[in-house]
Amino acid sequence: MVETVEKLSAVKGMADVVPDQSAAWQYIEANIREVMQNYAYTEIRTPILERTQLFKRSIGEVTDIVEKEMFTFPDQNGESLTLRPEGTAGCVRACIEHALLRNQQQQKLWYMGPMFRYEKPQKGRYRQFVQLGVEAFNYPGPDIDAEQLALCARLWKRLGIEHMLELQINSLGDAPSRNAYKKKLIEYFSSNLNKLDEDSKRRLHANPMRILDSKNPEMQELIAAAPVLLEHIDVASKEHFEGLQRDLKALGIKYAINTRIVRGLDYYNRTVFEWVTDKLGSQSAVCAGGRYDSLVGMLQGPETSSVGFAMGLERALLLLQLAKPDLHHTIDCFLICIGSTAEAQRLILAEKIRDQVPHLAMHTYLGSGSLGNLFKKADKSGAQFALIIGDEEVANDSVSIKFLRSEQPQQTVAINAIKSILGDL
Ligand code: ATP
Ligand code: MG
Repeated sequence: MVETVEKLSAVKGMADVVPDQSAAWQYIEANIREVMQNYAYTEIRTPILERTQLFKRSIGEVTDIVEKEMFTFPDQNGESLTLRPEGTAGCVRACIEHALLRNQQQQKLWYMGPMFRYEKPQKGRYRQFVQLGVEAFNYPGPDIDAEQLALCARLWKRLGIEHMLELQINSLGDAPSRNAYKKKLIEYFSSNLNKLDEDSKRRLHANPMRILDSKNPEMQELIAAAPVLLEHIDVASKEHFEGLQRDLKALGIKYAINTRIVRGLDYYNRTVFEWVTDKLGSQSAVCAGGRYDSLVGMLQGPETSSVGFAMGLERALLLLQLAKPDLHHTIDCFLICIGSTAEAQRLILAEKIRDQVPHLAMHTYLGSGSLGNLFKKADKSGAQFALIIGDEEVANDSVSIKFLRSEQPQQTVAINAIKSILGDL
């Protein structure tokens, strides 16, 4: 009996990057790597799986991520593991484990890779998505906050998406001023208990600031009239915030103060920021971060001032597609060998050409056919040049070059002089 087998598909909210899309991914990744180099950040790579406890302790128990978004399961040994929902926790764990922050050692680190959250998939929101994370340790002043924002601005400019993004900043103050504010907030929301939704009621005492982050439209009026944290922060945090604004102005980076940014994670203090867009519906934040001076200590590391951000690559990519819709893979050359002699040697001839032009993107045609037919294939490939090798070229160690995208007449050159025509590519 023949069994019918269900067709397998990717897990919900987890996408394949098919060849059509990989050029845009590579473009954005290459720009990120270059910008990281511009600011002398070094890469750190940490495992995708971590102990569940790490996220509970760092992100906070009463957060969307820990309460309902984590992919958590026991391993064969019964230990609870979690697919990382964000990168800061693992980065900080690794820094402590390898003593990278000993003696107030400064570190500027970045990482890029998949994160996992059990969310309702929609445009710009997936269950597996890629984040760039950037973290600086043991830089207490506001200048590093400003420099990270300059780094973001440089990246947007390189990608050509700067006109679609707005920077919003806020300050959460220090822990004592935040605690005093939380009391005020609890009083305010308690006196409006009948207007709170279920989520907010649950958060009222455990994490009242998270109520401010609610996306529920029916809650917005109540939230708008709530006390403002920025008006209650301590003097040192106020000075830090003013320093940041001075730097941003001097750098010519436009920003708006949004007193409602509280961030979804528990560990932030002082500076918080988001780069937002109005082009992606409710998935408006492309990049978000801030200071988290207490996290390293909370995870049993040395007291370490810390600031960082995470950028969602899929969202940046959606903006990139609006700005540069025609990013796709192209090859430089399409190699055609005509006749049995050239065909028999084409792999070797192709290697000789690659030796001459190290960055060449060349497709060697491995079938045979008429020249007219092969030119059609070369044209369709998107290549700039068709390279043709027949009996005569084999005899002279030469190659003929047809310019597929210009009127320039065909030329024949020695293989070891091909660079003079193709340039550096
Ligand atoms: P949101 O409010 O959109 O849920 P968040 O506050 O949960 O975002 P962060 O934890 O700050 O997001 O993550 C930083 C960035 O990572 C976001 O600004 C966004 O660009 C991206 N991001 C977060 N969650 C997702 C997701 N599920 N799919 C795609 N990108 C995401
Ligand atoms: Mg979220």
